[in-house]
Amino acid sequence: MKKKSNRRKFINKSLVTLSGASLLTSCISNVDEKESKDININFNKKYNWKMVTTWAPNMPVLGEGCNLFSDWVRKMSGGRLNIKVYGGGELIPSLESFDAVSNGAIEMGSGASYYWAGKIPSGQFFSSVPFGMNSKQMNSWIISGGGYKYYREIYEPFNLIPFVGGNTSMQMGGWFNKEILSIEDLNGLKMRIPGFGGKVLSKAGGTAVTVAGGEIYTNLERGVIDATEWIGPYHDYLMGFYQVAKYYYYPGWHEPGGVLEMIVNKDKFQLLPSDLQEIVKKGIESLNIWMQCEFDSKNSLYLNKLINEENVKLKMFPKDVLMSFKEKSNEVVSEMIEKDPKSKKIFEAYEKFRVSFRDWSVVSDKIYYEL
Ligand code: CA
Repeated sequence: MKKKSNRRKFINKSLVTLSGASLLTSCISNVDEKESKDININFNKKYNWKMVTTWAPNMPVLGEGCNLFSDWVRKMSGGRLNIKVYGGGELIPSLESFDAVSNGAIEMGSGASYYWAGKIPSGQFFSSVPFGMNSKQMNSWIISGGGYKYYREIYEPFNLIPFVGGNTSMQMGGWFNKEILSIEDLNGLKMRIPGFGGKVLSKAGGTAVTVAGGEIYTNLERGVIDATEWIGPYHDYLMGFYQVAKYYYYPGWHEPGGVLEMIVNKDKFQLLPSDLQEIVKKGIESLNIWMQCEFDSKNSLYLNKLINEENVKLKMFPKDVLMSFKEKSNEVVSEMIEKDPKSKKIFEAYEKFRVSFRDWSVVSDKIYYEL
């Protein structure tokens, strides 16, 4: 009975919306207003922007995607908006891109929110949380589940508009030169693992070290580190880690869906005419889809290549090791939100969405994959 009345309410509401004369008039006047503003666009005016990235120049998928984005924007705008893309270090050091875009010296940047954890700790909830949401869930939360409201709010004081600008998809656990049979095997292990994951490793008695992307291979080869995580089969293959590590572990509990980020200087964005603003937004949305598809499709090919052609020993972390990681991850997040009220507020929204999505995933994706 209740269901029926809800359905009726929905139908009635829809009809009211369709027939509401005053509402219709206001819609028309809004359209008029918008169109008249658009008519004043100077279609001869060209905008030249710069994009700084935290990726090595032309890095597969990540840098490559930024180049593609720039190309799409140029074509969609008929050459009115030109965005020159710079790899990390080409114009400014990678990690200075946040400040450069914030103060308007550069119009936009590509990176990941956890790089700015020192400035915006709560931003980490918009990259990846150990045992948190995967890429599909993150997209759903940020884009349609209210996440953008919080994301925009925490970047506002920096005069930045953040966008979901890509996703690495589910990552791998990493490359190890030592077999992990129990949580004790993590004791004394030196691993390149950033962010939340690194803190979890430290709680397990290991040492999380920071190593620049270009130096990981040599450090692993020389035994300076015992293990490293990176992204997934495709990128890891390109990095050549299979040549210097014995075991390839899964799953990537620490980064179940690494969201990548595009930041745009708010003033510069507002100076663009409305059509170019829309082109920037739609270009970033397309980039988000493209990156995820690119990672997923290539990861499936390269996982097989690593196993069948390079004889990589693929191993799953033992269940009790994963459970221990999970416990420690909860501790790391609890300690973090205790210190920062904004992080607490955002994590509560994140958790609420995650739990409700989990119920949906159990009767949709999970059961389907098990068939
Ligand atoms: Ca990673």
